[in-house]
Amino acid sequence: MNRKLSISLFIFAGFFVFAQCKKQEEITNDSHTIVQDLSFTDSEKAIIFNNSIDSAYRIMNYFVYADSIVLRKQSRNVDFSDTSTLFYLTDRLHVTVIKGGGIGIAAPQVGINRNIIWVQRYDKGSIASHPWELYLNPVITKYSDTLKLRNDGCLSIPGVSGQSWRAIWVNVEYDLPNGTHKSEHISQEYTAHIFQHEIDHLNGILFIDRLKI
Ligand SMILES: [Zn+2]
Repeated sequence: MNRKLSISLFIFAGFFVFAQCKKQEEITNDSHTIVQDLSFTDSEKAIIFNNSIDSAYRIMNYFVYADSIVLRKQSRNVDFSDTSTLFYLTDRLHVTVIKGGGIGIAAPQVGINRNIIWVQRYDKGSIASHPWELYLNPVITKYSDTLKLRNDGCLSIPGVSGQSWRAIWVNVEYDLPNGTHKSEHISQEYTAHIFQHEIDHLNGILFIDRLKI
């Protein structure tokens, strides 16, 4: 076997191994998605229905050890097979953020590690009434390269205000309550900041983690 041929064979074999690994990863990911049971657990339902639909939940406090564990957990997606439980949760989550005086909230902040956020849309409506919108399974698909240090705070870190580095715009994808999947470019800095803060919560990240780039 000459040197050139053996190098070619080596490269070909390397590519083959790479291709096999990639295929296996995809299969693993696919089967993981298929087998993942997204129905609400009994312990989640116990929290969701622990009071009337018009009452606020207790907000997780970062300075309480058990709460901090919940706030640091990775959240899971919701599905639409149990909308009565889902919308009971989202209604109460909205009551909670209004009563708490926030401009956004994420489900982990009330003890439910699910990908659900409410955002007050400062880029919509009037100064008197910026609408509140609910996003299910939201993800940020792109961040601006430019970052700014912005004032920040969190209902789950009471009494603490600080700053965090934030992208000035983001692209997001999410499901609407009717199940429609949407992509959106959020160009207004303040609204983009709220999306980043709330979606961070779904990944166990708090604004105090964003003080350094
Ligand atoms: Zn927060």
